[in-house]
Amino acid sequence: MPVTTTAVIEPRVKAAHCPHCGGEFRLLDHEAPAPAIRRVDVMCRQCSAPRSFWFRVLRTELN
Ligand SMILES: [Zn+2]
Repeated sequence: MPVTTTAVIEPRVKAAHCPHCGGEFRLLDHEAPAPAIRRVDVMCRQCSAPRSFWFRVLRTELN
C-alpha cells in the first residue's frame, strides 16, 4: 500500500478489520526493513489471527 507519510499508517491499520471474524486489530510491531518500507504486524483482538501490513512510503521531494 503506498502512502505519502508514515502518519497515515496507524489510522489505516486501525480502520482495517480481521478477514476471519471482522474484529479490530491490535498493533504489535512497527518495522522499517528498508528506508521507504514500513511493516506493521498486528493481531486480531478477538480471534488472535496475526496479520502484516506493508506500506511503501512515497517521499515528496522538497526543492
Ligand atoms: Zn479475527
